Amino acid sequence: MKQRLVSFFLLLFLTACGGRSASPTIAAVSPTSTDAAPQPAAPKFEVLASTPLLADIAQNVAGERVHIGSVLPVGADPHSYQYTPQDVAKVADVELLILFDDKYELFLEPMLQAANGHMEFVYASMGVGKRLDPALGGFDPHIWLDPNNVIACVENIREGLTHLDPDGAAVYKANADAYAAELQALDAWIVEQVNQIPPEKRLLVTNHEALGYFAERYGFTVVGNVLPSFSADASPSAQQMAALIDQIKASGAPAIFLDAGDNPALAQQIADETGVRVVTDLHLESLTDGAPAATYIEMMKSNVTAIVDALK
Ligand SMILES: [Zn+2]
Repeated sequence: MKQRLVSFFLLLFLTACGGRSASPTIAAVSPTSTDAAPQPAAPKFEVLASTPLLADIAQNVAGERVHIGSVLPVGADPHSYQYTPQDVAKVADVELLILFDDKYELFLEPMLQAANGHMEFVYASMGVGKRLDPALGGFDPHIWLDPNNVIACVENIREGLTHLDPDGAAVYKANADAYAAELQALDAWIVEQVNQIPPEKRLLVTNHEALGYFAERYGFTVVGNVLPSFSADASPSAQQMAALIDQIKASGAPAIFLDAGDNPALAQQIADETGVRVVTDLHLESLTDGAPAATYIEMMKSNVTAIVDALK
């Protein structure tokens, strides 16, 4: 009996180590191995998302079935991106293009006109209630900075992929459900982290107005922005700079938060006058190659850690 148990555990060990040919018994108990039942070849679809951030979200829904590329390279600013002839060639044969919103990815319209393609579109942020502030330039596009809004994006992406590839419906549904659960867990994690900051210290100053949805969800006040705009493609007047300095002093906000891609010159000037810290390593609109923001979820965790460290 003891000898048999030893053999059994040896078998388990060999199986775990990938020793599939160790014993014919293994093949007998797993007749549905991938060798025995080859999967039909996955369909080939040309699908692109506008930005690396959105491509990562969409890839979680597409899973192994469809590869989702990104129009923008990692680190490019979607607000101010200028398309290249290579981009035009890249989108020409695309069957499905996923974007957040036609008010955010302004580079897309002229690029798509130049490409003259015949793709379908998924507006990932469709149905998400948008923050409106005419003084800052209309609707706030930065919906993904609240993970609950990304759950709505996931549903729109699932519908778009299913329309393109109806045979994959069950796969996309299972992937979307699994990713939505991860996003809910992310939201719960953020709540837990933010609870380290006393409510009266939850004060944000950013380069442009990007953290409004985040602030609403997690109980922060946006004291002001270096660029009083929903876009990074703006510049402040001397009066606006002076007003922000007054707001920072009056509120006691201890830091200015910048995206890693922002020019820190103006923020530094304000910091010199107010004595606040400039945090320069948030990732709000794009991912990074590898850490700290290789995926949307890692990006959010990295941002929250930086904000909590500066404010708690
Ligand atoms: Zn932005």
